[in-house]
Amino acid sequence: MQVILTDANTSILRFDNGEDIMERLLTYAEEHTINGAVFSIIGATKEITIAYYNLQEKKYQDKTFTEDMEIVSVTGNIGRMDGKPIIHAHGVFSDSDYQTHGGHLKKLVVSATGEVTLTSLRGELNRSFDETTGLNLLK
Ligand code: ZN
Repeated sequence: MQVILTDANTSILRFDNGEDIMERLLTYAEEHTINGAVFSIIGATKEITIAYYNLQEKKYQDKTFTEDMEIVSVTGNIGRMDGKPIIHAHGVFSDSDYQTHGGHLKKLVVSATGEVTLTSLRGELNRSFDETTGLNLLK
């Protein structure tokens, strides 16, 4: 990962072949003490794990795709929970037939390139576990 440009509170980050953006972004947030941020991603991927949250069962149903796809759009935020950074992101990806797959994003491995626009916020985004939904909600 390289920081390509930083302007005020926004940085453009470039991720390369084989890097898992979700994992590396967590490390970056830890290293730079990011307590609140929003981000978007475009680029290309060779492996994703996305999920659908089954509210009845209060659990995620994961699905992994191991094929080359466009990262059409990912949007998310970085906050804190129990003193550690936590990422919440959703994404849409298109395959060679232009079909899209989308959902709650768990893993995103770059193929050609991953371009992240990250804006740090003043203040903190904090999350805590919510019994009703079974999710870690913003508070
Ligand atoms: Zn989600």
